[in-house]
Amino acid sequence: MAILEPVKVAGSTISKTTLHNEDFIKEKGLKIGDTVVIQKAGDVIPEVVSVNTKKRNGKEKEFKMPTVCPICGAPAIREEGEAVIRCTGIECPAKTLRNIIHFVSREAMNIDGLGYKIVEQLIEKGLIENISDIYFLTLENIASLKKNGTKFASNLIEAIENSKQNDLYRLITALGIRHVGVKAAKILAKRYKTIDNLMNASLESLSMVEDVGEITADSIYTFFKNEQTIDLIQKLKTAGVNMTSIEDENVDNRFENKVFVLTGSLENYTRDEASNIIEKFGGKVSSSVSKKTNYVLAGEEAGSKLTKAQSLGITIITEEEFEKMIN
Ligand SMILES: [Zn+2]
Repeated sequence: MAILEPVKVAGSTISKTTLHNEDFIKEKGLKIGDTVVIQKAGDVIPEVVSVNTKKRNGKEKEFKMPTVCPICGAPAIREEGEAVIRCTGIECPAKTLRNIIHFVSREAMNIDGLGYKIVEQLIEKGLIENISDIYFLTLENIASLKKNGTKFASNLIEAIENSKQNDLYRLITALGIRHVGVKAAKILAKRYKTIDNLMNASLESLSMVEDVGEITADSIYTFFKNEQTIDLIQKLKTAGVNMTSIEDENVDNRFENKVFVLTGSLENYTRDEASNIIEKFGGKVSSSVSKKTNYVLAGEEAGSKLTKAQSLGITIITEEEFEKMIN
């Protein structure tokens, strides 16, 4: 905002106008202490038209966008291609409400009952100041928000407790890392398995992750280097929030990225059964042999696919060898 000496324009007194963003200020060449021409856009919203440079006396100061958030002190960053500067502090009071709403939302930690109004009240009453405080709320705290609120409070406490068992991907989603939605969170959880691995991942490692571009990798890397992030994760750990990829734990991906082609008839499996086993272990089954094929599983009376595999130098396995691979 530009704070102005009050002036009458088209019937009302104007004492401030929006300056939109850094680019607008630069474009108009505005300095602190300048005299400006203002008008009412569409006769309603006051706006700065131009600077009257003739009125400058040399005491005007260059405006510099703060590099840290004036509220919480975390670095404030303008990302490429964006006009706005964002506070990177995840425990910034100015951002707390919105962050908590995102944290508890259905696609994130999925804490039922913790809606906008309730979170707003909890913050107003000073019962929560940051995300991790959710996990330290008591039955009495919550019950005090409503008349006869005990039932509501015990349900909410239960929902909060249950959320501690969520898979890692939900936590990653909930943290609200820029450019990281549910899909990317799932990929990251699967790839890094624990929050510590993810926090310690190098920029190079992050950039190599499937479907994670350079901008996202950079955003994740920066996020986990932030002291407030480290502090929050520590508090969530103390609260007993799960930090590992559970859904992935029992999944055996021994055939990950491996492409199989089946040919001929197998003694102990139908085509479908063999395909299901390969897919269960994370492999893929293709109907034709190509350079991308890793294994050709050849049964009795294998035909042209076997010949083609031989000519391409692809590993051919027998049913017996296949059984060794899956056991
Ligand atoms: Zn801030």
